[in-house]
Amino acid sequence: MKEGIVYKSTGSWYLVKEKEEENFYKCRIKGKFRIKGIKSTNPVAVGDHVLFQLEANKEEETGVIQDIQPRENYIVRKSVNLSKQTHIIASNLDQAFLMVTLNNPPTFTSFIDRFLVTAQAYQIPTTILFNKIDAYTEDEKDEIRYLALLYREIGYTCIGTSAVSGKNIEKVKELLKDKKTLLAGHSGVGKSTLINAIEPSLDLKTAQISNQHLQGQHTTTFAEMFDLPEGGQIIDTPGIKGFGVVDMEKEELDHYFPEFFARKKDCKFHNCLHLEEPKCAVKDAVEEGDIAWSRYKSYLQLIQGEDENYRVDIYKN
Ligand code: GDP
Ligand code: ZN
Repeated sequence: MKEGIVYKSTGSWYLVKEKEEENFYKCRIKGKFRIKGIKSTNPVAVGDHVLFQLEANKEEETGVIQDIQPRENYIVRKSVNLSKQTHIIASNLDQAFLMVTLNNPPTFTSFIDRFLVTAQAYQIPTTILFNKIDAYTEDEKDEIRYLALLYREIGYTCIGTSAVSGKNIEKVKELLKDKKTLLAGHSGVGKSTLINAIEPSLDLKTAQISNQHLQGQHTTTFAEMFDLPEGGQIIDTPGIKGFGVVDMEKEELDHYFPEFFARKKDCKFHNCLHLEEPKCAVKDAVEEGDIAWSRYKSYLQLIQGEDENYRVDIYKN
């Protein structure tokens, strides 16, 4: 039995890199393979540590995944078929970068907050990259500054980047070193461009994913992991529009809004949901402008489970 890490998953087969080696194997899973715990549409995800066995009598050496080691963490999206099931995008992450643009395409705070909640729930430190900083008007730059301030105050690192002008690319490179990083964001925000700016040698591969595999398959996304020459890995996630929040009780949600959680002790009721309850410190803070209204709105959407926001569409490249 060999030990390996999943670098790519297409739903029907998995690209697995042997641990401590440079060999990649195309692997399938055993017919009845099911993971205990989370119910997901994909039993194996990018980043998973697996045990696999080579198959005999094949022209090319392929493998069969036999077992999967417990995940340290993972990021999910809601399954496309709107069932209760989730889809695991990637696992065993050290950190996530959420790439955001004001326009072309617009990224809404509801999307940012949903991602942050998921990451927070699994203790995945997240950095927000405000990209295409070269292309904004002064007014738009003000809006970026406002958002960066908002999220910095909560405790997230925010960086303005441009793959075109090169702004802060070195800083991003520094943060990527020796870490396994998920790069998330809407299709078109500049993820592939950033990866290419950071590591030109990966150019071919990123171009291939978008063209070859996504064609005509807008119900599936394939994350793919790349080794960075200076150490660490980056996981590219093509076109994910929405992130799911798994297995979360209403009472638990405010744990993942750090600025809410910090004030909860001052709410009259220890189990305050910050909705209609009297003497709620969170609502007071919203009214006084100490908590951003956009954050409270995201919280309400999540706690009320507005299905519209759960919907996940995958952009076709
Ligand atoms: P992805 O879908 O997130 O991988 O986005 P791409 O990397 O394919 O980029 C989408 C478009 O945005 C392309 O036309 C890029 O040239 C453009 N783009 C990417 N980064 C920047 C940037 O920093 N500034 C500007 N002005 N355009 C960018
Ligand atoms: Zn409250």
